[in-house]
Amino acid sequence: MQLSRRQLFKVSAGGLAATSSMATLGLFPTAALAEVRQYKLTRAKEVRNTCTYCSVGCGLLMYSLGDGAKNAKAEIMHIEGDPDHPVSRGSLCPKGAGLLDFIHSPNRLKYPEVREPGTNAWKRISWHEAIERVARHMKADRDANFVAKNANGVPVNRWLSTSMLTASASSNETGILTQKFMRALGIIATDAQARVCHGPTVAALAATFGRGAMTNSWVDIKNADFILVMGGNPAEAHPVGFKWAIEAKKKGARIVVVDPRFNRTAAVADEFMPIRAGSDIVFLGGVINWLIANDKIQWDYVKAFTNATFIVNEGFSFSEGLFSGYDEAKGRYDRSSWSYELDDKGLAKTDPTLSHPRCVWNLMKAHYARYTPDVVTDLTGTPKDAFLRVCAHLGETAVATRVGTILYALGWTQHTVGAQNIRTMAMIQLMLGNIGMPGGGVNALRGHSNIQGLSDLGLLSTSLPGYLTLPNEQAHPDFASYLAKNTPKALQPGQLNYWSNTPKFMVSLLKWFWGKNATAENNWGYDWLPKWDKMYDILQLMEMMYQGQMNGFIVQGFNPLTSLPDFNKTSAAFAKLKYMVVIDPMTTETSSFWQNHGEANNVDPAKIQTEVFRLPSTCFAEEDGSIVNSCRWLQWHWKGAEPPGEAKPDQEILGELFVALRKLYQDEGGPGAETILNLSWPYRDPAAPSPEELAKEMNGRALSDITDPTGKVLFKKGEQLPGFAALRDDGSTLSACWIFSGCWTEAGNQMGRRDNTDVGLGNTPGWSWSWPANRRILYNRASSDAQGKPWDPKRVLISWTGDKWAGIDVPDFKADAAPDTGMNPFIMNPEGVGRLFAADKLVDGPFPEHYEPMESPLGTNPLHPKVVTSPAVRLFASDKERLGKHDEFPYVGTTYRLTEHFQFWTKNVRLNAIAQPEQFVEIGETLAAEKGIKAGDTVKVSSKRGFIKAKAVVTKRVKALKVNGKTVHQIGIPLHWGWETVAKKGYLSNALPPAIGDCNTQTPEYKAFLVNLEKA
Ligand code: SF4
Repeated sequence: MQLSRRQLFKVSAGGLAATSSMATLGLFPTAALAEVRQYKLTRAKEVRNTCTYCSVGCGLLMYSLGDGAKNAKAEIMHIEGDPDHPVSRGSLCPKGAGLLDFIHSPNRLKYPEVREPGTNAWKRISWHEAIERVARHMKADRDANFVAKNANGVPVNRWLSTSMLTASASSNETGILTQKFMRALGIIATDAQARVCHGPTVAALAATFGRGAMTNSWVDIKNADFILVMGGNPAEAHPVGFKWAIEAKKKGARIVVVDPRFNRTAAVADEFMPIRAGSDIVFLGGVINWLIANDKIQWDYVKAFTNATFIVNEGFSFSEGLFSGYDEAKGRYDRSSWSYELDDKGLAKTDPTLSHPRCVWNLMKAHYARYTPDVVTDLTGTPKDAFLRVCAHLGETAVATRVGTILYALGWTQHTVGAQNIRTMAMIQLMLGNIGMPGGGVNALRGHSNIQGLSDLGLLSTSLPGYLTLPNEQAHPDFASYLAKNTPKALQPGQLNYWSNTPKFMVSLLKWFWGKNATAENNWGYDWLPKWDKMYDILQLMEMMYQGQMNGFIVQGFNPLTSLPDFNKTSAAFAKLKYMVVIDPMTTETSSFWQNHGEANNVDPAKIQTEVFRLPSTCFAEEDGSIVNSCRWLQWHWKGAEPPGEAKPDQEILGELFVALRKLYQDEGGPGAETILNLSWPYRDPAAPSPEELAKEMNGRALSDITDPTGKVLFKKGEQLPGFAALRDDGSTLSACWIFSGCWTEAGNQMGRRDNTDVGLGNTPGWSWSWPANRRILYNRASSDAQGKPWDPKRVLISWTGDKWAGIDVPDFKADAAPDTGMNPFIMNPEGVGRLFAADKLVDGPFPEHYEPMESPLGTNPLHPKVVTSPAVRLFASDKERLGKHDEFPYVGTTYRLTEHFQFWTKNVRLNAIAQPEQFVEIGETLAAEKGIKAGDTVKVSSKRGFIKAKAVVTKRVKALKVNGKTVHQIGIPLHWGWETVAKKGYLSNALPPAIGDCNTQTPEYKAFLVNLEKA
């Protein structure tokens, strides 16, 4: 009898307990019959789960022992890759392979604890005491500082003196409950890990294509003819996802890596070329110039599907490093001139001949004419011949039958020009006709396992679920102004302009927040939502904390002391807090910031008056729920065991806290009590909302019978809705996250589907569920030409059949809109096309421009010496003082991570600690020789803000570059170390980078800053 490995496990888990039974099936050779040892999984229970680390979202099979009796506790005893999983196909990287050690880490938290002011120890307390004390702190601070109305009398309902950071690996169900909990309290000083990682991705891709997500999928990378890896190191950071790039390579695709270091991706690529950290826009702007100069443009695509033909307003200009509208005193642009010229119907004017001097194409051509190959070489340090080869490879994809893709991650996002790095590549992909195509796209490789989901759920200072904006006090003082400003009108005739449905999404969301208390008369409870005055991102809220303007800090599944830039500033800020609440499965440096760890954390506990609560939560293996991988798949996972000690799911911790706070407000009243008392909290057990209840709410349901115009009932009251097209703006539907609508319908939990049938080109629509509407490749209408005929007969995703769009993917388009209606593929944009000119969408320019990092090794910007760094950067006075200069700190530091570790989690995992036990930095041979440093020496790397000590790895992988006539040395600085660890203790590498962020999103500039180096 022949059984696959997967079938074997099914059979063994199904009860074929005795080895003799297996032998009867012919599974074991005769010699094995003599063995008495039982197959270790024979009596195990198998459940499916997803890796908790990165957003490849690899499938896991978890095996637990425990018979389910009341007094028996199941324990996970084996984890391996799920061979059915379409992306991972049974593989796990060194992190996934060590997950068993994560679950059983000695650093798991088991009991609630408190560190009282000025003391030097944790004290165990009961859950009851923990919840009561935390709720009391929160109420006291909220009562003292709640702002019900602003100076103009606009209801703002915000509470700024307590902030909250949210988790990146917790489930969507925890995320959506957190959203409800926070906003009801009025918390807007909040942020998620997305801010540290891919904030600029959302800003750049939404500004270009309409949505801020990775366009294609992991498996789809295999369909590419050319793969550029720049601003990322996927072989190391996303090892299992990267195997699809290798699949493409096996079929003849070429992989080229552009990076400051010869990294592990470069080691398996066809070609590597170095670049100076922080000069990517010069390189990519040079590509745009080369493509135009050499006519490597997919013209039919560009003319039909981009805004190349659109005419820009007369007032727009660019000169000496500044776009029109710059206000030097405010350090901001007035963006009104970055707009299209409109006709008398309010539609954008176009010139299909591209001869108008102010059409987007001609403005773009003029803008990038300065980025010649010589300028590229001079500013990036990349050899000219290598740069020209990349241009040629990309240029080869400017035809219908060749497609290229880009894989990037934090190497692009973590700069003051992070969003514009990505924008430049997005423009290139539009020029080449590579968006919407299988094997194409802009593949933003997300980091943490559910950071895509947390972004989708709006766990950011100014967001609401589904990329709706949280109301702003000036722009949206009332519901009418909110809808008017967020419901765009189409800018070209016949466009789908999907955001025209904003009222349906928003009313359905408000019904979720306030339930029966939301009525047409009170504008669905709009006024109870908090309104923002400015963005309270991590850098802003740390600055407030540092200035003593923050009393409380709730930290859920996040380790900001290790993750935020300028650790010494963060530590000083924490010491000014009255209370801190850390909810986490593991010990974190954040929770023990008050402990002295010598040079690595030289603080005096007696002087720190912050009361710190440490509340143990479950990890992925101990709960049901869904997480969203990088390519937008919502994968449901199943609980395999109980958590250790008294650890609880986040939903229970939030539930108990909310119930306790609500009771306090019921009994005692207080400012803003109504936003808490009016909140809908309809869960079976209010102290423990279940994942199923929350997942169903995200999808949405009918609150009364929904009828069509003829009165026919489409959905009965109480039914789960089939998708967001069913949402209404009359209060008859509820949905907590419109883009997730379709995830849990009347047909059940779509996220739990596990059919891995490949329907073509690696597409597996029956595996889990993907937002939006189970579409797997975004903008897939653009895979066919204007007439609806696929560009490439080998890459057919959808095509026009004569009466509808159909194919192997769900059309990202109106299914019955014929090509001759003029509807265009970028349905989220009011103009229907992809944007080469981003109009007023970004704060630092409609075209990307090169600006030096805030700490520049050149000290000038040869393109425009009067404007060296980005003029739209937000810089707090306290951070300005902490910036270094190149004469004192002559080398470029750039941070990165290792395949054996995930951020600061795996230092708690023995297997990973063994694989990469000790902190190091990478130094080029020339610099090492200059400094007399040998491999293995301990070195001190310092910036204006702090220092680390680490072992020197002297390498050929980081070479000195010639830039603007001088030699620039770069130093590679891996993350991962700290003092809460089962490995060797280390320094926090974030002592080095500055607390300055991307102009648009405030994602910190970790990838290019100045350091000095000495032998320690
Ligand atoms: S860390 Fe990422 S690549 Fe590695 S096993 Fe987990 S999900 Fe897969």
